[in-house]
Amino acid sequence: MSEIRKDPVVNKWVITLDDKEFSPKKDAKLEPSPKTHDPECPFCTGNEAGCGREIASVRTGDKWQVRVVPNNRPYLRVETPLKRRGEGMFDTVSDTGANEVIIETPVHNADLDTIDLSGVTSIVEMYRDRINDLARDTRLEYMLIFKNRGSGAGGKISHLNSQLMAMPVVPQSVQDEIDCSKKYFDLKKRCVYCDIVENERMFKERVVADTGKYLLIAPFASRAPFEMWILPAFHSSHFNHINGEEAASLARILKDAVARLNKAVGMPAYNYMIHTAPVKSGSLVHYHWHIEILPRLRPIAGFEWGSGFCINPTFPEEAAAYLRDVL
Ligand SMILES: [Zn+2]
Ligand SMILES: [Zn+2]
Ligand SMILES: [Zn+2]
Repeated sequence: MSEIRKDPVVNKWVITLDDKEFSPKKDAKLEPSPKTHDPECPFCTGNEAGCGREIASVRTGDKWQVRVVPNNRPYLRVETPLKRRGEGMFDTVSDTGANEVIIETPVHNADLDTIDLSGVTSIVEMYRDRINDLARDTRLEYMLIFKNRGSGAGGKISHLNSQLMAMPVVPQSVQDEIDCSKKYFDLKKRCVYCDIVENERMFKERVVADTGKYLLIAPFASRAPFEMWILPAFHSSHFNHINGEEAASLARILKDAVARLNKAVGMPAYNYMIHTAPVKSGSLVHYHWHIEILPRLRPIAGFEWGSGFCINPTFPEEAAAYLRDVL
């Protein structure tokens, strides 16, 4: 049985099927190190000097828990003056921005599900604080927080980290969400994401966990097997406005999501990204920040590149049932 589903926000299509023969690609699983400390690892304690100037950190006593350092091969640079240029019909913009690495734990082989709640709360608060700090640079339009976990998800270093890319433009995928949710709001006078929260709570079949403040779901038009979204159950367009209590509650569900994923799929490679409104915009009634978690179990092939469709060999309702019961 298969079905073509439409994402209710950005209207992208997903071919959803129940493929019994589906098997994850070769590098789709992590191979966790048995070591809690690896002297060869650039992010382990003792190797701090090799990471460049520390931008921020969370410390208890003289030990760091979370550290932020510049990416040693940055795509974007703060020193570059902002310049937008046209070359005939083609547009370019200078590589002005920042590319930071958030080292999320001093323990070499830790993951979000093995770090304690206060540690994960510090990570979430660090995401927020770095966005707010970089927002003071008025040349920058957007700060994307993302995680590449495992080589199958583009991760180069196994020690747990996320990255922040601060850009002089708003990424088109976020702009599409903002534009489409504006259309939905103009038509219905409701936020599409608030509607998703209400509908998923009503249908229940795609809900993985619900803490009251946050909802963890397998989205209706999941693009990948075991894709999950974390949605605040309250309306807010800006992730960087979360307070301490909301950060602790978010940390709890993020930890829970990773624990379920690791248990259900056996430590898959995955990406997650925080989608939030651009820092310079005021609060938006039609946009709602969220986290998208995408396990990278299958490659993206020609049909997907050519059509913008995704193919998902696992129905989200089945994935949700499995993720719900796995812990
Ligand atoms: Zn390490
Ligand atoms: Zn909303
Ligand atoms: Zn999104």
